[in-house]
Amino acid sequence: MDTCLKCEAASDADTRWEVILETQMCIWESPTSMPEVDIQFGDGIGTYCSEEHAMVAVNEYLLLVGADAQWSDVRPIETCACCHKDFDTTTSWHKVLTLIEESGEPPDLSIGTVEYVARFCQKCVP
Ligand SMILES: [Zn+2]
Ligand SMILES: [Zn+2]
Repeated sequence: MDTCLKCEAASDADTRWEVILETQMCIWESPTSMPEVDIQFGDGIGTYCSEEHAMVAVNEYLLLVGADAQWSDVRPIETCACCHKDFDTTTSWHKVLTLIEESGEPPDLSIGTVEYVARFCQKCVP
């Protein structure tokens, strides 16, 4: 059972939303191959009972660091959520604010939707 950081409701519901600041590097073997994401580590920001409460936390975090949600994808060049400059995601580790829908417990943990709220270039490490 997880307790929502926002409403402090302990929920028996299996599905919860995690907000994580991940350190990622995107990998493109070739221009035609599928992109891969290499995740070095993630700092958990919180676990929430609903996507709505997770988004309240996401928006508070973005406000704190002075960034906008970009809902970015995995591309070789992405726009930084802070300085709005394009940067290369394949050459160095960068921070990504990630929203993950999860259910179950290991070893039956299942990951639902994964969304990248914002990517931050190396100069704007939040
Ligand atoms: Zn909640
Ligand atoms: Zn930046």
